[in-house]
Amino acid sequence: MISRKICMLGSFAVGKTSLVKRFVESIFSEKYKTTIGVQISKKVVTLTAADVQLLIWDIEGADDFIKMKTRYLSGAAGCILVVDGTRPNTAKTANELVELMQQELGDKPFVFLINKHDLLHEWRIDDAQLKLWQANGWAPIFTSAKTGENVELAFHQLAERTLKES
Ligand code: GDP
Repeated sequence: MISRKICMLGSFAVGKTSLVKRFVESIFSEKYKTTIGVQISKKVVTLTAADVQLLIWDIEGADDFIKMKTRYLSGAAGCILVVDGTRPNTAKTANELVELMQQELGDKPFVFLINKHDLLHEWRIDDAQLKLWQANGWAPIFTSAKTGENVELAFHQLAERTLKES
């Protein structure tokens, strides 16, 4: 079977681990637990062209990411970049992470998620920011690991793109 390594990217606590859990195990937990080291989850997705086994790499906090980025990203076919819609600062980090990713991987596909979309009363992403991202070609997908909104779609979209670009 075709297999693809993909990496979760984004600041601390944006919901990377929760998105992986929702996608792979269909569960969500409010309890906050920092990921220790690197966790690799597997899931087979059925696309029109083929079945693809995703090997989803998920890492601990951003500081350690900087130290181990080469090992983490090595061999990745694409990334899931995650921002927290309730914390605009996490969007600033996203730009830096894309630069790092491009240094390590060249021009690999990524999907851009704005997560925690269930927390609408705390939502802090404005139209001006959205327009900027769209102008850059970063069409965001609004997701919620809590409700499951668009989570499958996001992983499938990345899987499709890693197939096309190989
Ligand atoms: P990570 O550090 O990026 O892996 O973030 P986690 O997945 O550990 O999530 C950090 C915190 O945000 C946890 O308390 C999660 O329960 C919570 N969380 C993650 N995704 C969502 C979401 O979509 N909605 C809400 N309401 N909380 C979320």
